[in-house]
Amino acid sequence: MSWISTAWSKIDHAKAAILKTTRLSFQREPLSLLDPMSEFDSTDINTYNFCKLEALLVETEADLERMQHIGHTDADHRHDALLRRTRTILRSLDDHKNREWDRVKIESVLRQTQEHLANNGPLMLSALSKARGEKARGLQPFVLAAFIMVTVLHSIAATARLKSQYILATIEAVLYGAFVFSNVAASSGPTLNLLQANVLRNFPQDARTAMAALGVEPDGVTHFACCSKCGDTYSPNRRRPDDAYPHFCSNRETDKPICGNPLVYQQTHVPTTKNGPSRTTWEPFQIFPYRTCSSWIADLFQRPGLDLLARAAWEPVLRPLKTRWHDIWDAPVLRDFLGPDKKTLFARQPDGAVHLIFSMFVDWFNPHGNKKAGKSHSIGVIYLACHNLPPHLRYLPENIYLAGVIPGPKEPELHQLNHFLRPLIDELVILWERGLYLPQTASRSAGLPVLARVLAPGSRVMI
Ligand SMILES: [Zn+2]
Repeated sequence: MSWISTAWSKIDHAKAAILKTTRLSFQREPLSLLDPMSEFDSTDINTYNFCKLEALLVETEADLERMQHIGHTDADHRHDALLRRTRTILRSLDDHKNREWDRVKIESVLRQTQEHLANNGPLMLSALSKARGEKARGLQPFVLAAFIMVTVLHSIAATARLKSQYILATIEAVLYGAFVFSNVAASSGPTLNLLQANVLRNFPQDARTAMAALGVEPDGVTHFACCSKCGDTYSPNRRRPDDAYPHFCSNRETDKPICGNPLVYQQTHVPTTKNGPSRTTWEPFQIFPYRTCSSWIADLFQRPGLDLLARAAWEPVLRPLKTRWHDIWDAPVLRDFLGPDKKTLFARQPDGAVHLIFSMFVDWFNPHGNKKAGKSHSIGVIYLACHNLPPHLRYLPENIYLAGVIPGPKEPELHQLNHFLRPLIDELVILWERGLYLPQTASRSAGLPVLARVLAPGSRVMI
């Protein structure tokens, strides 16, 4: 009798340490959902207590099975009750083990899937900035007009930042004068009311602030440091914003020594607070700005209907060939082109996917104009036209993807052009092999996925 009471008490004590939610650790991580259960990792305290309880129950069950009934009603009754309880707890421990192993398997497979997608799946673009241009919606119309004017002057009419600042300061002064004048005329005194003071407080001092409020600045622009001697480009280290680039060029052309040209200079910034420390940064002598293709596609598909137009561009390709060609879409190179699996026609777009076709161009211009006696200065642009857009939209400036601007003053040698094309080509390879996933487009606000694959057939370099 006393043995049964002691055993009962030991089991209750050991069981108190185990809850239905107790997590168990296993020695081996499962690789698939079919993997048999691994041994326990008893260095984990919860798992150790679990194993201890299970061992106690197994031992108790064996002892009880060996014991014979002694003919004492109460004692035999307690013996059977303890055996039933022992077996019930053992069954619940078995269930718990199986549930825990299932949990570990699912977590492991999910983690492997996520890692696989991160390395091999489509390029995932995080949720698009909904705040784009959101600030402009809350502006007074007369303030919005000033924002638009300065943005147009700065970005289209090439008005320098300093001159744009002068224009903004003048508008602010005019607004202040108009407010005070109207307040005096209305006999409310020269003091600004709360609304007027708020308008002036939030008035931009710089064209960049106005452009940011309107949301016209493109996303996804990276500034590469560019060697002025050999044209090699260096991506910034985003974890070191004040010293983001190598200080010297490490490029080595065939049969030549390492370039070694300095890439950056030291810039000291005035303290932002009185008696505060001044800040030193390393700035590139020359910059090669590059906009990612994925951010351009995301922007394009934010415009209503363009993703549907891009998808529909393939429809004629799937119909029988006409006798006369009207567009690039009639060309056999597109009709017969195979997708990245090298089996399926690229023309066949899976549900929700859009396959894009681009032509690539590199062209040069003189920023000082083409004057005969003017300075010879050449700046290059790398740009792509998306053939999925109908011909009347395809070459409009707003529909051209400006990938990068090659700094002057001279055109690089043809082999040096590779340094400027590298970021784009690297991205096109990813877009071709893995595709791009957009969380939303203008036509698919519910978040239906769009898979975009990019191809640049017969890329033309016009120099
Ligand atoms: Zn160099």
